[in-house]
Amino acid sequence: MIKVDVSQILAHVGDNQPFSLVVDAAAIGETSPWFGGDITISGEIVNLGNAFRLNARISGQATLECGRCLTVFEQPIDFFLEEELETEEIDPVSGVVDIAETIRTALIFHEPMQPLCKEECKGLCYHCGADRNQHECKCDQQAIDPRLAGLSRLLE
Ligand SMILES: [Zn+2]
Ligand SMILES: [Zn+2]
Repeated sequence: MIKVDVSQILAHVGDNQPFSLVVDAAAIGETSPWFGGDITISGEIVNLGNAFRLNARISGQATLECGRCLTVFEQPIDFFLEEELETEEIDPVSGVVDIAETIRTALIFHEPMQPLCKEECKGLCYHCGADRNQHECKCDQQAIDPRLAGLSRLLE
């Protein structure tokens, strides 16, 4: 649950309710390497009349594993979210809205498909397992595809 109290703006179209929250993964309802740590949500909720709009900046620090070299590295989470909230999502008695599901969906959407420690990461050698960012092994020069070796003999 990530509760924001919008009771002050319920009756006033055009008004906005600023807020800033620090929440943990349990509040969002899911743990993932992408958002296992604390997330800061700061922004506002605006009363549009027939709906409410959430404008917020989502930030935090993700701990990810590189898809090529398996190094664990940190990457900042930082994006803006603009999302309409249905009026029915707001508790009419307390004037509180739970934005956990909206935040969870946005974090999943922004999760990197293939995390990389750096764009030019060379990854691990398939033959000897050496981290090729640290040192170049000799496997590339030795491992010649036998089919290509046969072809090169034919061409000679
Ligand atoms: Zn890497
Ligand atoms: Zn190697």
